[in-house]
This record gives sequence, C-alpha cells and structure tokens, in this order.
Amino acid sequence: MIPSILPTYNRAPLTFVEGEGSWLIEADGRRFLDLGAGIAVNALGHAHPALVAALTAQAQKLWHTSNLYNIPAQQELADRLVEATFADTVFFTNSGTEACELAVKMARRHFHDAGQPERTDIIAFEGSFHGRSAAGIAAAGSEKMTKGFGPLLPGFTHLPWGDHDALYAAITCRTAAILIEPVQGEGGIRPLPDVCLKGLRDLCDEHGILLILDEVQCGMGRTGRLFAHEWAGIDPDIMMVAKGIGGGFPLGAVLATEHAASAMIAGTHGSTYGGNPLACAVGCAVMDQIANEDFLQDVRARAGYMRQRLEALVATHPDVFQAVRGSGFMLGLKCNLPNTDVLNACYAQSLCAVPAADNVLRLLPPLNISEADMAAALTRLDKAAAALSSC
Ligand SMILES: *Cc1c(COP(=O)(O)O)cnc(C)c1O
Repeated sequence: MIPSILPTYNRAPLTFVEGEGSWLIEADGRRFLDLGAGIAVNALGHAHPALVAALTAQAQKLWHTSNLYNIPAQQELADRLVEATFADTVFFTNSGTEACELAVKMARRHFHDAGQPERTDIIAFEGSFHGRSAAGIAAAGSEKMTKGFGPLLPGFTHLPWGDHDALYAAITCRTAAILIEPVQGEGGIRPLPDVCLKGLRDLCDEHGILLILDEVQCGMGRTGRLFAHEWAGIDPDIMMVAKGIGGGFPLGAVLATEHAASAMIAGTHGSTYGGNPLACAVGCAVMDQIANEDFLQDVRARAGYMRQRLEALVATHPDVFQAVRGSGFMLGLKCNLPNTDVLNACYAQSLCAVPAADNVLRLLPPLNISEADMAAALTRLDKAAAALSSC
C-alpha cells in the first residue's frame, strides 16, 4: 500500500523535533551536530534569535496579501539585494525550482523582444541540478531526473563539465543563454575554476548570450562571499537564489540586470506567495546577518580552519576518504567507500551530513558554526571514519 506521504524520498530513520544553533535534537533526546543545515538552507543555524524575532513580529502583524498590493518587506529586501549585487531588479519565488522557471522564461523573452525569437536554446552542464520542475529537469538533463517524464521541455543542450571544445562547438545562432552553478552542489561539490567563469562571461559577451548563474546552493555567503561569482570578479546577467536566503523559511529569488529583465513587463510572470510578508521579513533578517564584510570575513577564516582539519582527516583515513573539495563552507569529502556507508557511520556518531553525486559526502554547516562546534564535528567525523576502517 502506498504510504500516506508519497514515497519519493529514502529517509533516514531520524526524527528531529528541535534545533538550536548547529545542533538538532532527535525525538529520543540525542543531540546531532548538523553539518547538513537542511541542505544549505539553515545558513544561520536553527532558531537564530534575530530570525525568530523577525518572523514572529511579522506573524503578529500580517501574513499574506498577494502581489496585488505593495509589500513593504519585499520592497526592502529587493532594494537591499540590488544594493549588494550586480542586479537592477529582483523577482521573489518560494523555491530554487521556481527561480529556474523564471530564469529560463526571462532569457527567452529577452531575445523574443529583442527581435531574435529564434534564440531559445540554453546550454547547461552535466552533473548540474536546477530543481525538479519540467524546466529544471530538462535543464539538468540527467537520466536519473528525466526518465519517464517526457516529452521534456525542448531547447537544452548538456555539455561535459570542463570541456572547452564542446562548449565552443555548442554555441549557435539559436543560443540564448548559458546556465551554470559556480559550484555544483548535488553534482558532488565541483567548483568551476574562476578562470573558467571569466571565460564563460567573455564568451557570452562575444556572442551576445546571457549568462545565468544558479547560486541557489552556493550563494548567500556559503563560499565566503555573498555570491560565489564574486570570487571570479564577474557579473552574471541573471542569477537564481534560494536556500540560504530564507534561513529555513521558503524563499527564492531571481536577480537580473535591467538589460536581461526588461521584457518581463506586467502580466508576463507571477506568483501568489512569492515574496510574501513573512518570507521577506525573514529574508531581511538574514541579509542583516550575512550581507556584511565582517561576517563574510569570519566565514572565510572559520571555513579555512575547517578545510585544513578535513585535509588532515583525509590523510589519517585514506581508506575512507580520497580528497576534500569545495569552497568556503560548501565542502565535499570524496569517499573511497560508498558515501552512504560513510553517512550512516556519521549518523551513528550523531552527526548529519548530506550525500551528493560522484560518491561525495557534503558538509554544509551553518555559516555561523562556532569553533567549538566545528571541533566537535571533526571529532565525530574522525570516529565515524575510524569505525569504518576497523571493519
Ligand atoms: C536546491 C537547488 C535547486 C532547487 O531548489 P528548490 O528550493 O529545492 O526548488 C536548484 N538549483 C540548485 C543549485 C540547488 O542546489
């Protein structure tokens, strides 16, 4: 009999009932260190006092009005994102998937209105993840995500990660955009080298193509910059954001330049919930914490320490781990044993992490994890690895 929850997930037999900073409390009382952060969502850990205060204050005033009216918190959050980034304009969504939908629509409409309606194609990359909607799975293109869901939304080309020749060959007079994650998350924490991102920007400029960055996972301070593309010193035309921006409240956004977005006039897109008062009150509180150089500097310092300690862990357990990869607090341990075995060993030590493709175990701690909690997490990782190597 089919369960009352559609069984599309293989869930761990864990039930968390409370959270506090970098800790999750299981129903049986065990305290887990959370290096998964709800898949890079709880950027400020659990029950952050400023986020709780922002949410409850708004909850007592007004929950929802729809986008038929002005929403002050949405205006404030948009202004702050525009101020802090390349973008001239923002549309709010409830998720990363919805941000992908709009990014694709925006790119196509841009060329439609620019008198080049034949430009509809989007170049994307193998191993990418852009959500589970029809556009999202067509953009990612993997067998795992698309099998049985055809006919797929047409217009996507998928290139191997890092194959420059394939990229040059794939650009045609029908190409509208290149869509890429600066650091692949689900694909196994694969950072795109800065020079490649610069190269993509140049290529887009040369051919009049839009560069769409999916920073749903790697954005909002995760790599130690507010957005990962800042490391390469380039700007996208369109950027998808979600996960960390709501700190656990469902919120996403598409940020864009005026040039890329100007065809999206009244009536071309919408969302009932997108940018609602509750979500944007929390989003502003998240920006207060993360969008400042002192916080980001501190993320870089603590993430550097974590990385060093992980390199040592890999050296101590070469039978379990092969390498550390990633950027800032978007870290991956490439495993020599099945990553699911390593994950189960972590659970046995009351530590949460997240598996990814390419046999990688993702470590995505809250960005404000303390040094003491990092040290405790590393001790637990070491014990998990030791338990695996001894059997
Ligand atoms: C999680 C993720 C998405 C999809 O976001 P949802 O909020 O799950 O819809 C899209 N792109 C990337 C890179 C992601 O990590």
